[in-house]
Amino acid sequence: MATPTTTPSAPPTGRVADKVCVVTGAGSGIGRAIAHRLAEEGGKVLCADLSENTARETAAEITAAGGVAEGRAVDVSSSAEVDAMVEAAVARWGRVDVLVNNAGVNLPGLLHEVPDDIIDKTLDVNVKGQLYGCRAVIPHMLTAGGGSIVNISSVNGLVSEPFLTVYSASKGASVMLTKGVALDYVKQGIRCNVICPGWVDTPINHAHAKLLGGLEHVYDTIDSFQPIGRPGQPREIANVALFLASDEASFMTGSVVAVDGGMTSQ
Ligand code: ADP
Repeated sequence: MATPTTTPSAPPTGRVADKVCVVTGAGSGIGRAIAHRLAEEGGKVLCADLSENTARETAAEITAAGGVAEGRAVDVSSSAEVDAMVEAAVARWGRVDVLVNNAGVNLPGLLHEVPDDIIDKTLDVNVKGQLYGCRAVIPHMLTAGGGSIVNISSVNGLVSEPFLTVYSASKGASVMLTKGVALDYVKQGIRCNVICPGWVDTPINHAHAKLLGGLEHVYDTIDSFQPIGRPGQPREIANVALFLASDEASFMTGSVVAVDGGMTSQ
């Protein structure tokens, strides 16, 4: 199936109007698309990324399109930096209504060849980064009487693939930390849900593609693992993140939402 060049979206109706949103990993791929989608629907978006330049680029794109956004650097593996990111959003806009924990790394390899620093980095960014993010926004959401946290895991939080033991371990943890937060704060109006994207066309997959025989080979054979027969586009994940962030998803918490072209239906 041909990859669509545009992703259908309903005309903007202010689905997150005036909500203060923080998006990590907003400088690229899925995070950038989520930042755009939230801004298109009226959110004020703090775009944060390890790369300050790409975070500011995303914010500049949003501002140029008439939205409200700021960019800043964050290393989500540092709890102090995550706290400072959340405090910056509160200082600028008074509260945080939506957190999207999207920043992530995928450093593939066979487990017996993976050194300590790669295991540490994967868990520090993908697991601790999401825990730090949730921990930093929860007090503000409790004060405000609620909020929505959207964690970005992966299909590899549900099923593994060759070379992805460490990544899969981290993404499985993302699914479970989501359920933990959902349960502990459900009575206080904080919803926490997790998206498990399939193979999406972003740089995070490039190292994995290399081990599988190259990106071209992966895309030629994508039917064998992603039944829809094409890679997903970042905006196709962002549409779901927007929905979960919005009040339209008011009955959803602790939900694990696969957005994967049928991959986990096999
Ligand atoms: P995907 O969009 O599929 O998640 P990308 O590689 O395009 O994959 O995007 C991941 C984003 O996460 C990048 O912009 C990257 O800079 C960011 N990122 C990676 N590590 C960190 C980190 N420690 N702190 C903040 N952002 C990070």
